[in-house]
Amino acid sequence: MAVVCSPEKLMNILLVHAHPEPKSFSSALASRAREILTKAGHTVTVSDLYAMKFDPVSDRRNFSTTKDPDYYKQQQEETYATEHQGFSPLLEAEIQKLEAADALIFNYPLWWFGQPAILKGWVDRVFAYARIYGNGKLYENGLGQGTKRGLVLMTTGGGPDAYGGYGFNPSMETILKPVHHGIFWFNGFRPLAPFLAWSPAHGDDAFRHQYLEQLDAKLANLFTESPLELPPMADFPNYGKDSQKRFHVTISLNAVPDATFNEMVPKEKELVAELRRTGRILDFQMTATTESEWHAYAIFREPSREALDKTLATLPLFPYLNFDIRELAQN
Ligand code: FAD
Repeated sequence: MAVVCSPEKLMNILLVHAHPEPKSFSSALASRAREILTKAGHTVTVSDLYAMKFDPVSDRRNFSTTKDPDYYKQQQEETYATEHQGFSPLLEAEIQKLEAADALIFNYPLWWFGQPAILKGWVDRVFAYARIYGNGKLYENGLGQGTKRGLVLMTTGGGPDAYGGYGFNPSMETILKPVHHGIFWFNGFRPLAPFLAWSPAHGDDAFRHQYLEQLDAKLANLFTESPLELPPMADFPNYGKDSQKRFHVTISLNAVPDATFNEMVPKEKELVAELRRTGRILDFQMTATTESEWHAYAIFREPSREALDKTLATLPLFPYLNFDIRELAQN
């Protein structure tokens, strides 16, 4: 699905910042983001959760109304509050900020492979059933309508090797799924590639300043960067399983690599990265390029075998490759 987002238009941005120390590097990222985006002419609203002393505990204090005084069921109370303008003034203000946002930015340090509780609590309380999500308002039909954007700005303790897929921690892609898929995309906000400031406490000022400069470049493209594409609800009829098929493709060489092959390798890598961004390749692994019997293994998500064949034919190295294709069973 094409994502229409005019770069010229000035946008509303909600920056939710969650770090307890105003002099921290995470707070420096938040200040810089606000400054850069404001200079670009956008309207930036900041919810600095620690400064606000935001209470992350979600309970009856979310509401001025009560549907059932005997049994607290949050989504039922949220539905009732939506119908009777019954959110507490603090929540109503945060909900209105969220509703107005063309882009939602979460800025936080990685804590226990997740967000600080104050940010998780903000989500638990502010993304209210009936008002923000539910009753068909999900994914591309959700608040973000599949056009608004979500971005994580994060600092970490560990370095990129620890989170790169072969480290002792889960990959950052896995760690971010609850935010990218569970919060942003579930609500129709398309996630952008995250901005990760790895281990800012383990370097000097010059090292950290590079991150601030990289942040400027990242935010300059906030509304033009191609987001990660996650599957739309429309692909899952009746809230059921995926209507698209999955294929395991084993790729091998059918010719000895020559100069033309080597020239095309960067373009091949670019296309594979693009297919991963658009969700057509779900997983891709390969043997070392020094292996005489080089192989790559990919899981493709495609509507049909014909569609897969067409995609494979677009690979720059297609004439050099053999494909062993198996359709996977949907268990
Ligand atoms: P800080 O230590 O606040 O800042 C680093 C340095 O930057 C400081 O010297 C500061 O003075 C300097 N600085 C501030 N502003 C600027 C500026 N403008 N220019 C240059 N320098 C500046 N890590 C993981 O990897 N995985 C985890 O699961 C994890 N869980 C954690 C759980 C908890 C409860 C806690 C407390 C930490 C955890 N950590 C984890 C570590 C945490 O992610 C890092 O400590 C944090 O992200 C580092 O960022 P910071 O902003 O807090 O750094």
